[in-house]
Amino acid sequence: MERTFVMVKPDGVRRGLVGDIVSRFEQKGFTLRGIKLMHIDRPLAERHYGEHREKPFFGELVDYLTSGEVCAMIWEGQHAVANARSLIGKTNPVEAVPGTIRGDFAMDVASNVVHGSDSPESAEREISLFFGESAAAVYVFPNPPITHSAN
Ligand code: UDP
Repeated sequence: MERTFVMVKPDGVRRGLVGDIVSRFEQKGFTLRGIKLMHIDRPLAERHYGEHREKPFFGELVDYLTSGEVCAMIWEGQHAVANARSLIGKTNPVEAVPGTIRGDFAMDVASNVVHGSDSPESAEREISLFFGESAAAVYVFPNPPITHSAN
């Protein structure tokens, strides 16, 4: 089983899209392992998007991410990283097909509603960054896992 880090960005939280996004992950077959609403500060936003530090949009990206609350989540399942990326859709909503989260809810690359880790290594790094070291070993959600059977 693999875990991935997913975050509803401030525009998604402001627009009341958390419930729909959670629902899509549940319907797909993911198991929710952690969820929290939080206001992230600039140092955390800058660490999260460290790979984009030299990009021209970096300042605006950090402004955007710190402009309101985000909903940080840990989702678990088979090929969780790749399955989450396909539910989320292409980075630029112009290219994201309808049926994906960005394809259905976003117009603009700068405010594309949701983040999903791009590799299992990034997922573990981001889970630690947002949920702390304990998330590596301890489930944030104390509930027993939901099993998805065929019948
Ligand atoms: N972004 C932007 N302008 C661009 C490219 C990306 O504002 O031209 C923002 C957008 O919010 C995106 C984030 O930077 O989700 C991270 O970009 P990345 O290429 O890692 O895409 P993602 O993994 O989010 O699909």
